[in-house]
Amino acid sequence: MTGIQRAFVSNDTPNDDFQSLFATHPSPMWVYDPDTLHFLIVNNAAIDLYGYSRETYAAMTVLDIRPTHERQRMITAVHARSDMERAERWTHLKADGTMVEVLTYGRSVRFNGRDAILAIVQDQTEVNAAHREVSDTRSLLDSIVDNLPVGVFVKDMEADGLYILFNEACGAIVGRNSVDVVGRSDHIFYDEKQAAAFREQDMRAFAAEAAISFEETMRRSDGVERMLRTVKRALPSVDGSPPRYLLGISQDVTEERSVEARLAYMAMHDALTGMPNRAFFADQIRRAAKAATLEQPIALLYLDVDHFKHINDSKGHAAGDALLCQVAQRLTALARPGDFVARLGGDEFALVVRLDRESCIERFAKSLLTSLSQPFDLDGVNEHVTCSIGIALAPDHADDDDVLMRHADLALYAAKESGRSTYRFYEPSMRMEAERRHLLTVELREALQQNQFELYYQPIVQLENDGLAGFEALIRWNHPERGLVPPMDFIPVAEETGLIVAIGEWVLREACRTAASWPKHLKIAVNLSVSQFRHNSLLASVVSALDESGLRPERLEIEITESVFLADVGQSLPLLKALKELGIRIAIDDFGTGYSSFSYLRAFAFDKIKLDRSFIAGIETDPGNLAIVRAVVGIGSGFNATTLAEGIETEEQLTKLRQEGFNEVQGYLLGKPMPLAQAQALITGGVSAFAAAAAAAAAR
Ligand code: C2E
Ligand code: MG
Ligand code: MG
Repeated sequence: MTGIQRAFVSNDTPNDDFQSLFATHPSPMWVYDPDTLHFLIVNNAAIDLYGYSRETYAAMTVLDIRPTHERQRMITAVHARSDMERAERWTHLKADGTMVEVLTYGRSVRFNGRDAILAIVQDQTEVNAAHREVSDTRSLLDSIVDNLPVGVFVKDMEADGLYILFNEACGAIVGRNSVDVVGRSDHIFYDEKQAAAFREQDMRAFAAEAAISFEETMRRSDGVERMLRTVKRALPSVDGSPPRYLLGISQDVTEERSVEARLAYMAMHDALTGMPNRAFFADQIRRAAKAATLEQPIALLYLDVDHFKHINDSKGHAAGDALLCQVAQRLTALARPGDFVARLGGDEFALVVRLDRESCIERFAKSLLTSLSQPFDLDGVNEHVTCSIGIALAPDHADDDDVLMRHADLALYAAKESGRSTYRFYEPSMRMEAERRHLLTVELREALQQNQFELYYQPIVQLENDGLAGFEALIRWNHPERGLVPPMDFIPVAEETGLIVAIGEWVLREACRTAASWPKHLKIAVNLSVSQFRHNSLLASVVSALDESGLRPERLEIEITESVFLADVGQSLPLLKALKELGIRIAIDDFGTGYSSFSYLRAFAFDKIKLDRSFIAGIETDPGNLAIVRAVVGIGSGFNATTLAEGIETEEQLTKLRQEGFNEVQGYLLGKPMPLAQAQALITGGVSAFAAAAAAAAAR
């Protein structure tokens, strides 16, 4: 028996039952002397937890199981008996030097006849660790909620919607501090209307099965209006009881919405003029056409600036843009409330107009043309343009938007065809004309495949020696049903559809091949269309036609009209120069019929000027025409270009031109365009055959 154990058996000593309970109790316990602080007795659990042997305990005081910094507190506590009746937290020192967190309960007892203190210890290490974990998790969650980039709040719906959580992002969105908001409800912060609106949302979301999203503009505490999107839902309770809290997740979507609005605006508006664009127009015309009735008809006007490309090319794109903006302004100014004006792209505009009577729309179209005929100020320079307008009415001409648009387009096409600067109403014949053009396109494609084209050759005579200078190649179409079709009946359609490129290539190859077999002094003139100049392939096809045939470039003469310049100077000029550098001669055809023929003479050194036949007719009597003829002779010698007069039909005309000093002539008098065989005969027959032919023609 140890001393301590012996001590228990004396007076005031717990009985055996207590002793065994004490010794085997799972909680560590000991009895110590409050004066000496020596352990008087310790139980097994204390030995196990702390790792000191019973003997070591016998030599220790309760201070020895405490780290130095806790010892004074212990002494004070023992003196004050402060750990009596209530648990006290301590850190104790184990035999191995590690710490153990404990709760101790002190009780005054009598032990071996004197006052002693029984200490019961509860190891708190695990409990504390669990607590720490819980508290760590809580603060982690708090910090997550506070740092979320979205506003999170929770309201207690059983307490008048009091905020019980309101994170920092929420505060930033509405411009309030979380501490000011928590514990209060909306009617403190917002005016009655806003608070009632929030309340209504809350009730609705709280009653709903799923979350509900709300979006609204709200005024922040600093008066700034923001667009707010909030998803609200009732938080399900943990125990399945009816929910009590409402969770809200708010986002400031002001920027997002304004970007969206901007994008939506851009998708529907033209960047240059700010007008509705084609997409917007398509939507508008669909509705308008659907809504149009005989009582409330509408008109669709397509408006196009005549020769806009010319302005763009000659004055620059900035000037072109400025012009379009001013056109847009004038159109908008003339539109009445309820009318719709859009820019469809390029120089094309559309107006959707409510109608009273057809005469009224005529007046309107005229007023548009008048307004647009006023000069435009392009960087301080006055520029005049004209416009063409096509008009289709719904439901008169069509009740379907697609058809209506097609009809307005046909009417615009007709306005352009009839010389521009005018308006045209849709007529059924236009559709027939369009169908005819379509059929013609199909037939032209077949004609190319089936070799239905043929070249006719019209002699060109040089007046210096009345000899044959060469021929102009003029295309004919041997149509299986219609017979010989003249170029004017199909070239324009071929130009529109781009078929002219393939047809033109055939003409070039055929003309060069033919001319290569002729005597070396004879030239061949080939007409090129403006649309051929829009294709990069032109230079290559000319070169390959020359290569294939072996014709020397100097014998090839390319005839272009001024429309080549109207279309695009930027592209045409380098091409013309490249052709000229190859040695090919370039002639300006139908000279005098264009808009500003003289400016083209300056822009490019033509080898030949072909004066249009409209100036030759009446030359004998009309002094004006004669003056022009003289001027062209002067220009020719000034620019060192050969002068040729087209359309000579009478001897008088021939004599006059000879007198005026023209270099070359061409016309029915000297020979109509003829099939190759006849042209060959003319060549082999020599001048005599030619003279005979001329005489025969003159006699007709
Ligand atoms: P152009 O190049 O000015 O050709 C002259 C046109 O005037 C020819 O008409 C010719 O037959 C006609 N002509 C010639 N002398 C007289 C005359 O004394 N009196 C009258 N009244 N007319 C005369 P054609 O052959 O019908 O050709 C018309 C136009 O078609 C040509 O005008 C030319 O611009 C175009 N063309 C003809 N062949 C081709 C071609 O292969 N390619 C292209 N792109 N255009 C062509
Ligand atoms: Mg010609
Ligand atoms: Mg001509």
